[in-house]
Amino acid sequence: MTNAEYQKQYRRARQQFPKLTQRAMRDILRAYRTAGKRASKFVAGSLVEGLTTPTAKAYVAFQGELKKAAEAIAGEIEKITPVTVKKAADATAEVHVKYLGEAVETAEAGAKVAKSGIKNLYVGVNDRVVRDLVSRTSRSGYTFSKSVWRTAGDFPVQMNRVIEAGIAQGRDAIDIARDITAYVNDGKTAMIKRYGKLKRGVYGFAQRISDDVSWQALRLVRSELYMSLQNASVAQGKATCAADGKYDWVLSSGGQHKCVCGTLADNSPYGESRIPGYPHPNCRCTITPRLRDEKKFNADLKRWVEGEKVSHIDTWYKNVYKQG
Ligand SMILES: [Zn+2]
Ligand SMILES: [Zn+2]
Repeated sequence: MTNAEYQKQYRRARQQFPKLTQRAMRDILRAYRTAGKRASKFVAGSLVEGLTTPTAKAYVAFQGELKKAAEAIAGEIEKITPVTVKKAADATAEVHVKYLGEAVETAEAGAKVAKSGIKNLYVGVNDRVVRDLVSRTSRSGYTFSKSVWRTAGDFPVQMNRVIEAGIAQGRDAIDIARDITAYVNDGKTAMIKRYGKLKRGVYGFAQRISDDVSWQALRLVRSELYMSLQNASVAQGKATCAADGKYDWVLSSGGQHKCVCGTLADNSPYGESRIPGYPHPNCRCTITPRLRDEKKFNADLKRWVEGEKVSHIDTWYKNVYKQG
């Protein structure tokens, strides 16, 4: 594979990221809708006053329902996110495996470096990236799991607010049940439209409801996904002796960048220790490892397999390949 082909294939692999992210977003939205349906169904079968009286049986049962709904949301997010990271990381890993595999073949270095060994190396790299998603703590000091549960925990809060607002507006259980569906599926504005003219005092209740119940979760997951993929790119670059240890910051396409990302891209390439950290929520930039000059690399590999010392390949062989 030539370096130009690597670029092309890497770009194509990277284009999977937005698609996979969108699919994850869809799945998370579905989890919210399911939770909304559950809450809506419960409300439709209740006397709404009982849902806001903490001593009432209906209130206790409803809070239990909401808790289960939030748990289901959190469970889905915790399942979907690592799977998505894995799929996206596998796409770029495949390009590295192919590139290095072909170089090894051309240099007839198969006796020292097995194709299966290269493959396993990248399985290990991607496993670590996924594990890191689960174990790292955010700037606010939360693990991914903790952040997910906190975010999903907002669902019951918003549901209770929707009910309070509905009662203040004098709506019955069936109406409020439908309000919940409208809110979860289409947001607060769509829900408030259903009210018609707001009664006195309802505005205050409505104001406390957040605009979109799933927005925070989507933002969290989108950020975590791209942060993981940036980490994956670096880890994958480190795992191949074909890369030269430099990385390009690649601006996400579409949308305006009123953020630091344009500067980050302009200042490319970066050595490993200088790669910028994840700059801001929702950043969808990616990182691409640079390759060594292909002619020189192929020659290096050839010399190395014939017994010459080639320090960058020796180091890789000892510290990366053999440890893989
Ligand atoms: Zn940015
Ligand atoms: Zn960015």
